[in-house]
Amino acid sequence: YGDFNQKIDYVFKVVLIGDSAVGKTQLLARFARNEFSVDSKATIGVEFQTKTLVIDQKIVKAQIWDTAGQERYRAVTSAYYRGAVGAMLVYDMTKRQSFDHMARWLEELRDHADKNIVIMLIGNKCDLGSLRAVPTEDAQEFAQRENLFFMETSALEATNVETTFLTILTEIYRIIS
Ligand code: GDP
Repeated sequence: YGDFNQKIDYVFKVVLIGDSAVGKTQLLARFARNEFSVDSKATIGVEFQTKTLVIDQKIVKAQIWDTAGQERYRAVTSAYYRGAVGAMLVYDMTKRQSFDHMARWLEELRDHADKNIVIMLIGNKCDLGSLRAVPTEDAQEFAQRENLFFMETSALEATNVETTFLTILTEIYRIIS
């Protein structure tokens, strides 16, 4: 792996958006480092993490950006969206409001991001099934109407996290290559 870095074929910037506390940071921690921490917010400010993977025999470096608390102040700026080829719209399936806000986040995304951006709707915290406030069908219907990919995840239990990131990255690869 000595010159592994020199061999990167693609770098894909993907942004995480959605209300505060839906689990964006933990989804990223799970994907990038296979970690989860109950008490997560150490820093405030835009941050990203990378993970290198192979898609169709090409080395793809995923650069995943997390708002890291900025969404609380409606301070997500156009710099955050600049160059992004993918976006993950995350809601908490136990918080109806976080799903109802998806339309607003989508509008924000369509105002600031490239029009060909690949968008994935993610209902996180599916481990909390008994507290579910957003039926799968509601999210599916919204995703279909808005032409988004859709998946339910748990960062806590690592359910569908890998699949979700692989799906969006593979779709980006399909469009770009
Ligand atoms: P963010 O503000 O969207 O980045 O949300 P965080 O990643 O900081 O998560 C907010 C809270 O939800 C934290 O207490 C996490 O431990 C918790 N959390 C995140 N993902 C999950 C999950 O999949 N299941 C459960 N039960 N809790 C989660």
